[in-house]
Amino acid sequence: MSGAFHHAAIALAQTTGFSREERQVVLDLLKGVTLRGGAVDDLYAAVLRQLGARDFRWPEFDRWQAFFAEGWKFPPLWDELKKIPALRAAPHIRDSYREQKLYLLLHWLQSLETTRAHTRAALARYAKRGIRAEIARQGNGAPCPVCDPLNHHEVKDGLRDLPPFHPGCRCLVLAIPEAGGVAPGRKRRPLHRIEKQAGSSAG
Ligand SMILES: [Zn+2]
Repeated sequence: MSGAFHHAAIALAQTTGFSREERQVVLDLLKGVTLRGGAVDDLYAAVLRQLGARDFRWPEFDRWQAFFAEGWKFPPLWDELKKIPALRAAPHIRDSYREQKLYLLLHWLQSLETTRAHTRAALARYAKRGIRAEIARQGNGAPCPVCDPLNHHEVKDGLRDLPPFHPGCRCLVLAIPEAGGVAPGRKRRPLHRIEKQAGSSAG
């Protein structure tokens, strides 16, 4: 794991609506929670306590929101974020939207640090032992237009495109069980560059 948390710092710097001091508070809380193995819910609770929710601009969010809205297929954590409430929407609707958006941001920041770091470490371990690895979707089976096509793709040595692929992504990279060879219906093509329709900065 990157001690500097610079992936999260870069992602957070691309948002507007938090002061420099507030971004530092978020990063410090992220470090604290992550280093003691805490979950995003702990981080979210701590950020809410210290900063509260507010409207903020997050271009990465806007791009993905537009992309998912196009096919009206939203991955987990986006359920409450399908439609940006109108300015005249009831306050509780706007509040709950900005809270869920903050939750998604914090989940993204934590994933950028933990999922990628764990994946790189795992891939290095696998490579030493000659074990192949693949992308594995996690979660409740909710469809994801980004990750579904990547599920079970073998991850070759290129470390470019690793999960998380988008905010809310829960994909992992797992070892491919060697016994029995390739299961029918499984694609074992090498992972090519992730589609960039949404202009993801992931990677
Ligand atoms: Zn996904």
